[in-house]
Amino acid sequence: MNIVVCIKQVPDTFEVKIDPETKRIVREGVESIINPYDNYAIEEAVRLKERFGGVVTAISMGPPQAEKALRDAIAMGVDGAVLLCDMKFAGSDTLATSYVLSCGIKKIGNFDIIVCGRETLDGSTGQVGPEIAYHLNIPYVTYVSKIHNISNGIIECTRLLEDHYEELKVRLPVLITVVKEINQPRIPSLKGMMKAKKAQINIWKSDDIEGDTSYYGQDGSPTRVVDVWTEHMKKEGKKVAGETEHLVEVLVDELKKVGVV
Ligand SMILES: Cc1cc2nc3c(=O)[nH]c(=O)nc-3n(C[C@H](O)[C@H](O)[C@H](O)COP(=O)(O)OP(=O)(O)OC[C@H]3O[C@@H](n4cnc5c(N)ncnc54)[C@H](O)[C@@H]3O)c2cc1C
Repeated sequence: MNIVVCIKQVPDTFEVKIDPETKRIVREGVESIINPYDNYAIEEAVRLKERFGGVVTAISMGPPQAEKALRDAIAMGVDGAVLLCDMKFAGSDTLATSYVLSCGIKKIGNFDIIVCGRETLDGSTGQVGPEIAYHLNIPYVTYVSKIHNISNGIIECTRLLEDHYEELKVRLPVLITVVKEINQPRIPSLKGMMKAKKAQINIWKSDDIEGDTSYYGQDGSPTRVVDVWTEHMKKEGKKVAGETEHLVEVLVDELKKVGVV
């Protein structure tokens, strides 16, 4: 089975800063890590290989530094890695990013399952996975929390939704996005880390993926960020003391005042 896992390198912070001029995320001077949800995607891809056999290839579109994220994936058990890296990709929105990734995945070829994280820590749109599936014209399942079986070209899995689960059977090839409930990512072994250090990362530029250049970069991106702002949450509190019965009344009055009950 050929498994592709999509990983993105993101700033190692929950306090994402936006450049007020360009409306883009400030990445300079911030340590980068594998997007946390993508660790679950890597782990699941490696587990699928261990259960059903096959090869796992990690793919990322990003700057040269993203090579580090791909080496970390190899340390966890991924077999090969591709970095899609070209100034022509810069400024891509989710539609353009997913197009570039789909061209890279087509070049890898013969894929059965593509695994993505549910969303990223920085952009966090959750759109890239389903959009890759759209470009490749294959089905997709989001928020997968368990893969039960794969046989006769069909995957059986569970989706975790807000208030219920969904059981699905879908024909391969398929793209799935995974939630953190699916597994516990492993800590890389020393052997894995040594392998990652020596591994060759394939760097593919725009010319290598045979895509239509008008579909990526800033010009190929239909999204225009009009404005970005930070909502400042006021932490207001009110402390009440007294007998339990009295406290319940006070709480209900307070909740009525703010329209909750
Ligand atoms: C107008 C505009 C301009 C932008 N310009 C830039 C820019 O110049 N530089 C820049 O870095 N970003 C830029 N971005 C952000 C960029 O579009 C997003 O980071 C990217 O499309 C991923 O979207 P997301 O973070 O919401 O991913 P999500 O959709 O939340 O990601 C879901 C999953 O898809 C996969 N995935 C997502 N992105 C990648 C990737 N790059 N490689 C491999 N797998 C991936 C991962 O498995 C991830 O867990 C721009 C966005 C907009 C709207």
